[in-house]
Amino acid sequence: MTEVPRTAVIALGANLGEREQTIRQAVAQIESTEQIDVLAVSPLYETTAITLDGPDPDKPGYLNGVALVTTTLDPETLLDVLEGIERAHGRERTERWGDRTLDLDIVDFGGLTRDSDRLTLPHPRAAERDFVLRPWLDIDPDAQLPGEGRVAELLARLDRSGSDRDR
Ligand code: ATP
Ligand code: CA
Ligand code: CA
Ligand code: CA
Repeated sequence: MTEVPRTAVIALGANLGEREQTIRQAVAQIESTEQIDVLAVSPLYETTAITLDGPDPDKPGYLNGVALVTTTLDPETLLDVLEGIERAHGRERTERWGDRTLDLDIVDFGGLTRDSDRLTLPHPRAAERDFVLRPWLDIDPDAQLPGEGRVAELLARLDRSGSDRDR
């Protein structure tokens, strides 16, 4: 059986260990999966850690980026693959939004919307995260977040609200 390939957007993040090496290896592991092709990888950005209490510059900073892939896997199986790669890099889950060696989220999966125990699509917090939107826009200037609109506009709106806060 051949499934039609879908384009998926994967958010890449790390704030512990050799962050860049971890992310590069993770992308190579994603690519080495037979049913996944990596189309593009964004530049990686230094970003401030976000905790449940807000941004915390005292925590180790993040490297964040985005990979664009096509895959014949279904979304849950893609998540299985990504979780396996996180585990291979020693990802531990303790507190919510705690420090981590590697975080791989599915931001968008072919425009699909769903909400199950394991998987919400598109990623419910992507629209408010400049560390997702900026690198995504870098590799796809026409990117759209289903239900939210054009990534370029979402990012412009975030930038405006950020500069309002600074005033
Ligand atoms: P956030 O989701 O706010 O970015 P996080 O990445 O730190 O937080 P995790 O501990 O990595 O959160 O994941 C918590 C759960 O989120 C996972 O067990 C996974 O099943 C679920 N999940 C739901 N939707 C998605 C998605 N689109 N991509 C990745 N995981 C998801
Ligand atoms: Ca491959
Ligand atoms: Ca995440
Ligand atoms: Ca995650």
